[in-house]
Amino acid sequence: MKAVVVGGGLGGVTAAVALRKVGWEVSVLERAPEFGEVGAGVGVMPNAMRALAALGLADEVRRIGTPRVAGGVRDPRGRSLTRVDAAQLEHMVAVHRADLHRVLRSALPEACLVTDTEVRSVDELDADLVVAADGIRSRIRQALFPDTPQPVYAGTTAWRSVTRAEFPPDLEISQTLGPGTEFGVLPLGDGRVCWYAATVAPAGGRSDDEWAEARRLVGDWHHPIPALFDATPPETVIRHDIHELATPLPTYVRGRVALLGDAAHAMTPYLGQGACMAIEDAVVLAAACAKGDVSNALAEYDRQRRPRTQAIAKASRVLGRVGHKLRNPVAVAMRDAAMRAVPARVGVRGMTKYLGWVPPELSLYR
Ligand SMILES: Cc1cc2nc3c(=O)[nH]c(=O)nc-3n(C[C@H](O)[C@H](O)[C@H](O)COP(=O)(O)OP(=O)(O)OC[C@H]3O[C@@H](n4cnc5c(N)ncnc54)[C@H](O)[C@@H]3O)c2cc1C
Repeated sequence: MKAVVVGGGLGGVTAAVALRKVGWEVSVLERAPEFGEVGAGVGVMPNAMRALAALGLADEVRRIGTPRVAGGVRDPRGRSLTRVDAAQLEHMVAVHRADLHRVLRSALPEACLVTDTEVRSVDELDADLVVAADGIRSRIRQALFPDTPQPVYAGTTAWRSVTRAEFPPDLEISQTLGPGTEFGVLPLGDGRVCWYAATVAPAGGRSDDEWAEARRLVGDWHHPIPALFDATPPETVIRHDIHELATPLPTYVRGRVALLGDAAHAMTPYLGQGACMAIEDAVVLAAACAKGDVSNALAEYDRQRRPRTQAIAKASRVLGRVGHKLRNPVAVAMRDAAMRAVPARVGVRGMTKYLGWVPPELSLYR
């Protein structure tokens, strides 16, 4: 059986690894001149770590990612709103996106990775299965679902970067919530730290100095935020407006095509689950494909993935609304008081339905 994966982002390459694991022949067609990921870090949540374990890659990702550290949410002055010690939390691993992509690619033969190839129509592809992993602006989704509205601006713009390697490896994973703005810290384990700043703003804003723009918002917040800016080469700061596919698709499959990752369910990043969902999608799709004919496999994939990913996209949107999008000082004070009052274990328990996911077994296609 032969699959063509359109798009070599984190979702596409994971799909290729997973389909090969169940015995399929796979090519990944990527329009860019080379494979890789730009951007900063990505938090690989326990659910996605289990999916990577099913592919035999979790140990390597753990080796290059964050060591087990505590985490928490704070206010801009550094006062704790909620705190989770390392023992309470199953290990979430932060890695540089480029490193994660490299680990995934290392599980694929070079010959199945094809660059400089932009797919214009699925009709041109000779395959039993086409995996559309072509991202939030998916051309394949637009062709197959012409009536689905385009992705929309989620109201937030975000800056991301990675510092030079000068931070202690036990720096905490943290999120700081201020009115209309948040800052996040993901230590990468080798002394580098991935950080992001997100703020409510009109779409399309740009500055000649994005480092200064982000620093203007949060540069006087608690330690280590100013130090993180000092350790960040300004030219490495990237800025993205956050978009999402706000209208859920009625199905993720059509004919022999499966939509996967952002092509199927581009979501806001507030739960840190966008790439994690793409990784889960890949393993579920491959497990379904190992069982039997493609149309049954695709029906199974859609049945398993659509409810979960659409529920998580919705939860992420809601979290943004009660998180950094709150600007009214009274509402912010009430939110902060509520967070202080609720024990961390209650929050951790609330996340179990997202983080507790277990991947299906991957058996060989027969
Ligand atoms: C600010 C921000 C922070 C985030 N933080 C996190 C996080 O901490 N944790 C998390 O899990 N997720 C996070 N996400 C979400 C995550 O980045 C995405 O969900 C994930 O990268 C989607 O992967 P993908 O492979 O589906 O799509 P993409 O990464 O967009 O890959 C699509 C690929 O397809 C290629 N392509 C497109 N069209 C064609 C074509 N016609 N022919 C051939 N190739 C094509 C593109 O060049 C690209 O390489 C974040 C997102 C943002 C914006």
